[in-house]
Amino acid sequence: MAAEVTMDKLVSLCKRRGFVFQSSEIYGGLSSAWDYGPLGVELKNNIQKFWWREMTQLHDNIVGLDAAIMMHPKTWEASGHVENFSDPLVDCKECKSRFRADHIDLAKPCPTCGNSGTFTEPRDFNLMFSTHLGPTKDSGSVVYLRPETAQGIFVNFKNVVQSSRVKIPFGIAQVGKAFRNEIVTKNFIFRTCEFEQMEMQFFVKPGSDDEWFEYWKKERISYYEKMGINPEKLRFKQHGPDELAHYAKAAFDIEFLFPMGWQELEGIHSRTDFDLGRHQEYSGKEQTYLDDSDNSRYVPYVIETSAGLTRSVLMVLSDAYDEETLADGEVRNVLRFHPKVAPVTVGIMPLVKKDGLPEIAKDIQKELMEDYAVFYDQSGAIGRRYRRMDEIGTPFCVTVDYDTKEDKAVTLRYRDSMEQVRVPIAELSARIRSEIKNYTRTRS
Ligand code: ATP
Repeated sequence: MAAEVTMDKLVSLCKRRGFVFQSSEIYGGLSSAWDYGPLGVELKNNIQKFWWREMTQLHDNIVGLDAAIMMHPKTWEASGHVENFSDPLVDCKECKSRFRADHIDLAKPCPTCGNSGTFTEPRDFNLMFSTHLGPTKDSGSVVYLRPETAQGIFVNFKNVVQSSRVKIPFGIAQVGKAFRNEIVTKNFIFRTCEFEQMEMQFFVKPGSDDEWFEYWKKERISYYEKMGINPEKLRFKQHGPDELAHYAKAAFDIEFLFPMGWQELEGIHSRTDFDLGRHQEYSGKEQTYLDDSDNSRYVPYVIETSAGLTRSVLMVLSDAYDEETLADGEVRNVLRFHPKVAPVTVGIMPLVKKDGLPEIAKDIQKELMEDYAVFYDQSGAIGRRYRRMDEIGTPFCVTVDYDTKEDKAVTLRYRDSMEQVRVPIAELSARIRSEIKNYTRTRS
């Protein structure tokens, strides 16, 4: 029986081991903002690297971009965000609680105070944060913190076409911060006002969009499986006609079974020529593409894959979390991360901190740190040290013992099976590389 993963267990592990801390905690914290600690930032960076490699290196028709967070305010008029990017809100006149009108039943009593008939009429609340650029606060200087990274890609479509050798179909990928003034932020790092997205806009010839939409649905679900995520915790959810965003022709979410239930992880959207068409209209700059395969000129259609990076961190943590009851009844906490995303890849430890063993272990550390994220640990009983590595999800441990002096070999210990094998030091790095490449997840 797999252990139940609760949000409380994750929050507590994340704080205890330095994955995620509440923002400005010493002042009482800022609700819905979180900081990534020493292990959390490694995990987040590794997930980002995994996505970036998948999208750009493994697809030779996708290039990268890193656009600014602040953009010309007209961008957000053209994109529809000034007009449409809002949530309907209601307040309870009695207890002043605020709710998203689409999240509660307005015919029922207030969930907080239990009074009936106390809701205000729903009001639209725009989710974009605005600020002012320059010294004056006149309306001409207003800028928004981008609520999505996608528009930075659209406004650079022509720049990329003219400066690179890309030909349709091709994509532009970007990772970066986005900001939304979310009213209901709960569930740890699932929904926050400041978060990171990993988005890719794929430009195609009109008419081929349905085919590419299907292609990207398959690619994106298989990406999560490659990362070792339990396929039983992943599913597609199609948006019905009433749920489609203003730009979308079709949309599917990839959902993950989080501790609080099935929730969106990534959106795959067929956006037609809406975005480039609107930027053409609002900027007066042509956004067409000359297709030299048949000399036709058109505004490309777009398939978007839009994943949350910070939300992926929560997904990876929830999926990896395990409490395994061992034969002797002891329970070990283990994070079964894929080695490619684990914050530490190899724990290196001398059996004892004397008799020359630390020196040998330090030499091994020096060699392995060129290729892997390593952690050296010489304090405490070896079993305790293994447990500490299990709890932060380190897939491999290397132990130097007295025999090492004779046989020039070490013990390689696997996190998932706890199996131990003897490996010559000279072969260690290559062995770990091949273990990472061939890794398959086992579940308790
Ligand atoms: P919702 O309807 O839940 O507010 P959305 O459908 O508007 O979200 P998208 O605009 O499609 O979300 O964003 C793409 C991805 O960005 C989401 O699948 C999610 O992973 C991530 N994301 C969106 N909003 C947030 C947020 N407030 N905090 C963390 N991640 C977010």
